[in-house]
Amino acid sequence: MKDHVSALLSDVKAKNPAEPEFHQAVHEVAASLGIVLDRHPEYRHHKILERVIEPERVVMFRVPWQDDRGNVQINRGFRIEMNSAIGPYKGGLRFHPSVNLGILKFLAFEQVFKNSLTTLPMGGGKGGADFDPKGKSDNEVMRFCQSFMTELYRHIGPNTDVPAGDIGVGGREIGFLFGQYKRLRNEFTGVLTGKGLNWGGSLIRPEATGYGCVYFAAEMLATRGESLEGKVCLVSGSGNVAQYTIEKLLDLGAKPVTLSDSAGYIYDEAGIDRDKLKFIIQLKNVRRGRISEYASQFKSAIYTAVDGKLEHNPLWAHKAQCAFPCATQNEIGGRDAQNLLAGGVYLVAEGANMPSNLDAVTQFVNTKILYGPGKAANAGGVAVSGLEMAQNSMRYSWTRDEVDARLRLIMKSIHGACVTTAERFGTPGNYVNGANIAGFLKVADSMMDQGIV
Ligand code: NAP
Repeated sequence: MKDHVSALLSDVKAKNPAEPEFHQAVHEVAASLGIVLDRHPEYRHHKILERVIEPERVVMFRVPWQDDRGNVQINRGFRIEMNSAIGPYKGGLRFHPSVNLGILKFLAFEQVFKNSLTTLPMGGGKGGADFDPKGKSDNEVMRFCQSFMTELYRHIGPNTDVPAGDIGVGGREIGFLFGQYKRLRNEFTGVLTGKGLNWGGSLIRPEATGYGCVYFAAEMLATRGESLEGKVCLVSGSGNVAQYTIEKLLDLGAKPVTLSDSAGYIYDEAGIDRDKLKFIIQLKNVRRGRISEYASQFKSAIYTAVDGKLEHNPLWAHKAQCAFPCATQNEIGGRDAQNLLAGGVYLVAEGANMPSNLDAVTQFVNTKILYGPGKAANAGGVAVSGLEMAQNSMRYSWTRDEVDARLRLIMKSIHGACVTTAERFGTPGNYVNGANIAGFLKVADSMMDQGIV
């Protein structure tokens, strides 16, 4: 079966050149599935994996808009509708200058398995644009979002494809996108998630990815009779996922000591407490400033700027027990993984999507630390998006406690599915195999039921 998987990988590379992140995501999943294809020759016969790798539809479009000085700007917009076997396409929109087809395909591919793990009926998709919201005025962001939606609206809908936020797309952007969709369609529906509470949003949606990631970490620790109480934690990023990861870590008695953005990171030996977190939320969500300002405000912190000459990130070299990468893909390389392990880290829970490269993943799996891959550990965000869709359909809202309780239950169930599936397929404790296989089986069986489409 190894031959089958390696032939498939060569094919993916030949057919999708210049998409290294997509190759990486497919490689990691395909490596887990060899044993599944051995036990289920019918999946191989029906070319299920080959079909899962090919997006059902890719939309790519021009996004013209005018900046505040009256200059015409042009960006490229995308929506990848990857798989709808178990529900409408669902997945975030990313606005970042690095966005390209390969990055969105890797994210959409991961999303298929993640959404399947949530136990909710959601297919997988992802989209975005190579637009950089940093340094843009609110009016520029609004004009960009309106132009983006003027094309996207014809491809999405509450029963077709339901986008949400991701890097560079938060509450402000979802508001502008929703407003334009409603204007074009003359329809008030749950076509986006992450909406404001006054107009169809769900309580706990902003918190869900970070909270869910920490709940998942707590479940992993519980398998060894431990808790997060007193654990020193490295966190990267300082956006939505990082902020609520820190909040839940504090709730559970842990001590977060780092945060970062694309320019550098801070290390605060005294710990990032609730007052400091308040400062970060104001800094990042309202003033839209840089993390370096944290070190000017709090003297217990040291700021280190990114050094382009280093092939590792010194953030991951600090002594700690747990790590929560919450910024972006491939932020933990082989050397970073060595540093994490040498510094005492024995739990990695991924808030970001694919933050560890293949070398790092191999080290985490081989050393048998508690390693929760993104498609399991950060599924809380899309899970509460699914709950937002359910509330929109009912035209009813659950309380904060109700949504939080459902989120906890979902993260517990994802953790349980990873553990039992890894055991069932002969690799106990391997959350990578557990997540990939459990996510795949539900989609594969649904595709078998629905014929060759
Ligand atoms: P966000 O609010 O935009 O924050 C992103 C953070 O990561 C910022 O601190 C940003 O720094 C940093 N970052 C982005 N690109 C970077 C790069 N190339 N190098 C270094 N730092 C970079 O986004 P988010 O929603 O927290 O998303 C963070 C990660 O979580 C992503 O991998 C996303 O796919 C994943 N995720 C998000 C959700 C969700 O519900 N939002 C759900 C599941 C997974 P700058 O400000 O300097 O750019």
